[in-house]
Amino acid sequence: MDKILNISNLKKTFHTSEGEVKALDSITFDVKDKEFVSIIGPSGCGKSTILSILSGLEEKSSGKISFSKNCTIGYMLQNDSLFEWRTVLENCMLGLEIEKKDTKESKDYVIHLLKTYGLEEFISEYPSRLSGGMRQRAALIRTLATKPDILLLDEALSALDYQSRLAISDDIYKIIKKEGKTAIMVTHDIAEAISMSDRIVVLSKRPAKVKQIYEINLTNKSTPIENRKCKEFSKYYDMIWRDLDVHI
Ligand code: ADP
Ligand code: MG
Repeated sequence: MDKILNISNLKKTFHTSEGEVKALDSITFDVKDKEFVSIIGPSGCGKSTILSILSGLEEKSSGKISFSKNCTIGYMLQNDSLFEWRTVLENCMLGLEIEKKDTKESKDYVIHLLKTYGLEEFISEYPSRLSGGMRQRAALIRTLATKPDILLLDEALSALDYQSRLAISDDIYKIIKKEGKTAIMVTHDIAEAISMSDRIVVLSKRPAKVKQIYEINLTNKSTPIENRKCKEFSKYYDMIWRDLDVHI
């Protein structure tokens, strides 16, 4: 697989009225085209900061970020941030409207995504009619609508209860693979990361450094729910658990 993104020696210090917060200390990793990479690390270590910098919302302090081509980026947050006064279709068209690309063609594409991914009957409904899982699916479709090359998912599933989370991670994974996207997902859930990822970048506590990078090789790799049954699963779980060095 070709590399789509290279992050090299990325550093970030926030300057606040209370002083400096060093969030990222020398982050280096790359991402291949169509790869699913998870970033895992302790709470507050700087995971979201990496995504904010990649998306252009925050400036880096130093280091290098290079894309292999002119990539567009879609960003999906923990909170689905659907607007309650807009229908599902209108919500999914939002990014296209902002980019002034709300053509008939792009609208047809969004409708096609909504139909393909089980939201056909909710196209003209308001988000309050949707279950938590459907809302996440709608939020993902809104992110896919602008046809980004790379999807950034920031704890996108963590607002859901455990059972829904398993089902939706399966859903979201299948959609991302079917649409042929590259994904970078931030999570604090080790099992979620192993079950969905090709590689996992484990960060240290703040200021974040890359502690380990694991290539996830599962026998009979299939969907996230099935992957949890693979024999190598617990081996990866133990290694990452040890890396995270959680104290309670
Ligand atoms: P994570 O996503 O791993 O939980 P974040 O990337 O959100 O962590 O934050 C890393 C550190 O940077 C935290 O200490 C946080 O308080 C700080 N931080 C994040 N954003 C800002 C900001 N805009 N201004 C000041 N400090 C920030
Ligand atoms: Mg975060």
